[in-house]
Amino acid sequence: MFFSPHPVKKDAIIKEFYSLGTIVQFKAYGNKASQAIDKAIDKIKDIDNKMSVFKDYSELSKININAGKAPTKVGEDTYFVIKKAVEYSALSGGAFDPTIRPVVGLWGIQTDHARIPNNDEIDEAINLVNYKDIILDEKVSSIMLKSKKQELDVGAIAKGFAADEVKNIFKKNKIESAIIDLGGNIFAMGNKIDGTPWKIGIQDPIRSLGEFVGIVSVKNKSVVTSGNYERYFIRDGKRFHHIIDPLTGNPSEKGILSTTIVSDHSIDGDALSTCAFVMGLERGMELIESLKGVDAIFITENKMIYTTSGIKENFELLNNNFYYKN
Ligand code: FAD
Ligand code: MG
Repeated sequence: MFFSPHPVKKDAIIKEFYSLGTIVQFKAYGNKASQAIDKAIDKIKDIDNKMSVFKDYSELSKININAGKAPTKVGEDTYFVIKKAVEYSALSGGAFDPTIRPVVGLWGIQTDHARIPNNDEIDEAINLVNYKDIILDEKVSSIMLKSKKQELDVGAIAKGFAADEVKNIFKKNKIESAIIDLGGNIFAMGNKIDGTPWKIGIQDPIRSLGEFVGIVSVKNKSVVTSGNYERYFIRDGKRFHHIIDPLTGNPSEKGILSTTIVSDHSIDGDALSTCAFVMGLERGMELIESLKGVDAIFITENKMIYTTSGIKENFELLNNNFYYKN
């Protein structure tokens, strides 16, 4: 029999903190788990400092301030995230667009001054939205927005990037089993410590937080959900949520409550969950089925659950309020 001189510690190290506008929780197994988590926390804070639109000193805010005036030199992380965001904008035919910020700001959905803008305001803000106006210069690592008042927002993709970066830090520190949870943007590393797949709950989009419609069993996968229940306000009984259709400047209304993407890289899952939400069931499903190694779970307003072919075996319905035809 073989006895390892350094058996892997059986207890998980768990740390929780606030960053990226959400509660971040890391749970990791391994002899270097505690140090690895501390390094990961530093990395998350660095990403927040560079890519937050809520911090006027961030690289992203500098690009926004310099819109229509001058290119802004950025570090490789910000450059990579914006480049990926532009790729997903093109792939989704503009359903995803990181220049959506002027419209998001108008609705104020994540602030204490949320309101319904009038049509003129929306039209004016929509005119500023166009991912093709993002000028990338790879040689000098600079980014510029073509016109004044244009603004970038990486809220729909940067948490995915952050999860991938944490996974890389964990990997370097020989962690083989971990859950990286950035406010519902999850990366399940390896298997559970007992060797069985991780079971990730898919949030019930109608009932309160913490209830699930079902679970997906995964090994080494990112599981990311975009939902209309994440951030919203209600006026006259109508819900106004934070995922904006760039065509209308209004919260996307395609009959979707949530879209979950299961993928190898969380940056892809984050971007695609937003793409699929805005594209709706038919076009979104078509897009995800066309991508290798990427799966999706759509939950619609009429309480139906649809999954791509690759995930049917791994999805289990737990909630009879929803209908799922496997
Ligand atoms: P997703 O579907 O992944 O993204 C929706 C978000 O993307 C929207 O909130 C909006 O910002 C943007 N968006 C809307 N429509 C589109 C579209 N069609 N295409 C592209 N993007 C779109 N929140 C705070 O309240 N305070 C903070 O200080 C704060 N700091 C943050 C710093 C960073 C670096 C990041 C990445 C996020 C931060 N957030 C903060 C949260 C952020 O504003 C978003 O609310 C959050 O990232 C939404 O994530 P999601 O997974 O729920 O939704
Ligand atoms: Mg997203």
